[in-house]
Amino acid sequence: MIAKIIVDVPSGQTDRTFDYDIPEEWGNTIEIGMRVVVSFGPRKVQGFVVETTNDTTANKKLKPISEVLDPAPVLTQELVDLGFWLSQRTLCFQISAYQAMIPAAMRASYKKVLRLSMDINLDQLPIEVSRWFTHREAITWDEITETAPHHIRLFQQEIKKKRIDVSYHVKDHVTKKKVKVVKLAIEVEQIDEAIQQIGERAKKQQQILAYFQEYPDPISVTHLIERLETTRSTIKGLVAKGYLLEEEIEISRDPYAHKTFSETSPLPLTPMQQKVINPIYDTIEKKKHTTFLLHGVTGSGKTEIYLQSIDRVLRTGKEAIVLVPEISLTPQMVDRFKGRFGSLVAVLHSGLSKGEKYDEWRKIQRNDVKVVVGARSAIFAPFENLGIIIIDEEHEGSYKQEENPRYHARDVAIYRGEYHQCPVVLGSATPSLESYARAKKNVYHLLPLLQRVNELQMPSVEIVDMREELRNGNRSMFSTVLFQKLNDRLEKGEQSVLFLNRRGYSTFVMCRDCGYVVECQHCDISLTYHRTSHSLKCHYCGHQESMPSKCHSCESEHIRFFGSGTQKVEEELTKVLPGVRVVRMDVDTTRKKGAHERLLQTFASGQADILLGTQMIAKGLDFPKVTLVGVLAADSILHIPDFRASERTFQLLTQVSGRAGRHQLPGEVVIQSYTPEHYSITLAGNHDFLSFYEREMMVRKQHGYPPFYFLTLITISHQELTKVIAVAEKITTFLKQELSNQTIVLGPIASPIPRIKDRYRYQCMIKYKTESKLSTLLKEIIVYFKREISQEQLMISIDMNPQMLM
Ligand code: ADP
Ligand code: ZN
Ligand code: ZN
Repeated sequence: MIAKIIVDVPSGQTDRTFDYDIPEEWGNTIEIGMRVVVSFGPRKVQGFVVETTNDTTANKKLKPISEVLDPAPVLTQELVDLGFWLSQRTLCFQISAYQAMIPAAMRASYKKVLRLSMDINLDQLPIEVSRWFTHREAITWDEITETAPHHIRLFQQEIKKKRIDVSYHVKDHVTKKKVKVVKLAIEVEQIDEAIQQIGERAKKQQQILAYFQEYPDPISVTHLIERLETTRSTIKGLVAKGYLLEEEIEISRDPYAHKTFSETSPLPLTPMQQKVINPIYDTIEKKKHTTFLLHGVTGSGKTEIYLQSIDRVLRTGKEAIVLVPEISLTPQMVDRFKGRFGSLVAVLHSGLSKGEKYDEWRKIQRNDVKVVVGARSAIFAPFENLGIIIIDEEHEGSYKQEENPRYHARDVAIYRGEYHQCPVVLGSATPSLESYARAKKNVYHLLPLLQRVNELQMPSVEIVDMREELRNGNRSMFSTVLFQKLNDRLEKGEQSVLFLNRRGYSTFVMCRDCGYVVECQHCDISLTYHRTSHSLKCHYCGHQESMPSKCHSCESEHIRFFGSGTQKVEEELTKVLPGVRVVRMDVDTTRKKGAHERLLQTFASGQADILLGTQMIAKGLDFPKVTLVGVLAADSILHIPDFRASERTFQLLTQVSGRAGRHQLPGEVVIQSYTPEHYSITLAGNHDFLSFYEREMMVRKQHGYPPFYFLTLITISHQELTKVIAVAEKITTFLKQELSNQTIVLGPIASPIPRIKDRYRYQCMIKYKTESKLSTLLKEIIVYFKREISQEQLMISIDMNPQMLM
């Protein structure tokens, strides 16, 4: 038998299957979707079996598979096919698609090991090389590159002369958490006899056997020692005599083990909820694929609809995937699913350690769970009987992966929904324009849910013109209205949420005299001021420098940081509202594991008056005592160079406003802005999605943007500017020649961030309606340039349907 294998060598030439022989004695142990180790040229690499067959087109003798890494397949046939589809759709290598589907712990790492060749003596080698081998037989390549980089060349020469051998090892990172347990090797009835045989001299051993007489179940060694105050050697003695067996068993690290969940039961649905859930039930029953767009305002009870749909699916014996954006995957959100489905739920998010993620994934693979709640990559959960896929906040840009494979979770969901003939539910209070347009064309089935449950009113929104404030002499970051309302809440003992968008409103350092802004010398982007270390950092490359005391340009001493970070706002708050208790949530305060949860708990329990934070507090949170939401600078994303800037602004303001008045107490929202007349701000203030949709569609049509056109963004980067421009021009010219004349090819122009990590960046944008040849052409471009100038570090990245235009 022959296995067709996709090898872990991400390159254009190797992006196809390779045939390997399945050693006869292995019989039928090799299955599609397993990981194996194979020889590839001089090295050993990991590979995925995608087909087994009797045929081969190769005419020479095939190499055998060296090693099998999995006792059972890690990819289902469906996922194997999906990987191929993704490689076509997103122009990634098939291996990258497979790697994205499995937990990071299972991705291989490679170790190069060096040994002296046979018949070589130490004195034949240069001393710098030989000294490594005086006490050791083998050393790893990493040791040399890390501790003696200046000797790399010497080593390379010796390898070339074949005086040193290199072998490659594939390492699996999977660490199953195991415990040692002991259990009886004899029958319970035989214990009496055993105790007698052991005799009085081994009292301790007798005691252990007596324990097993009472509790015959396996017990972990540590427990047994604790419980009987015995020792490891006593247990070992019994094992040696053949009365007990010792073994290791796999246990799960359950990140939620310490928590208890209060059980919830389904709520009787409101008539409006009932109306939108019926079509979903219908597809579940008829085993039919439909993509639904559940357009439900904040607080309309979408989550309850998800829960009850899942319940229906579980009753048919099938499984469910729920995607939630990383930042709304809060403990509160998880509780709602765990509360309803208990231990049937696995959770996958980036806060888990590699090991924990692996364990959650194993629960899915072993079918121990039926529901997975997770961020983007959970869409690849290896369920085999999917009954529903739900994507909450479907408009979120984070569902698109910004590195290879550049897939959008929504597309993958629909692929899987078709495969399993099950519904896909996209939910949002502010659907993406693309999705809403598809719903209007009946490609998706629109389910509107436009009122809050329990007749709760949408919060009233006041938009404050900050220019006016300045004219009236208010120089603080809080408008008079916001300040008064914050004060009022303090007096009443109610809570407020303050939202600050960090992006575009960050703490850059500027000279007040000449306007000079300190930028990263590698990335052409302004550096961010960090108060704690009094230094400047680049958020793209990590470059750090100390805060200058003088302007580099005009030598003025009036150089200081500008704009407000959350820290600055916090300071300001405590100044203007003495005694106020603030919980600040941003990347800095939530870096530690569990910090996120702890901060929210502090706020939820009423130990703070104001929750101040960035994007991460914009959604999903639900606090009964919050009656005021303030947005400090609504325009902060409006000026990002991206055609989705208005859409993002509308979505964000709507989400943030949705945090107020979700319970008995009515809510108020104050939005501060320097461009209060912009439609994305006024319409968010009126909770008017439909008008926003109409308005924004006109803009998109006028400028030829999605959903009227598809976009593909090509970014070219290299250390030399002239090279970048030359290649970018070649590509643009080639595309203009080859593509139809309805298609628009823009560029080449410098990217919005023209340099990152010393690499210059140029881009070219393709706008098209239909272009059947596009994928083929783009692949040709990659192959051509890789071959022509492969050594020269040229990078071409292609993003079909980009979410970010940076
Ligand atoms: P969304 O996800 O649309 O923002 P939620 O599902 O969070 O809305 O619902 C908002 C609130 O209404 C929650 O507190 C939820 O428990 C409650 N709720 C939802 N459906 C019902 C119902 N049918 N009856 C009573 N309360 C409900
Ligand atoms: Zn200056
Ligand atoms: Zn930088």
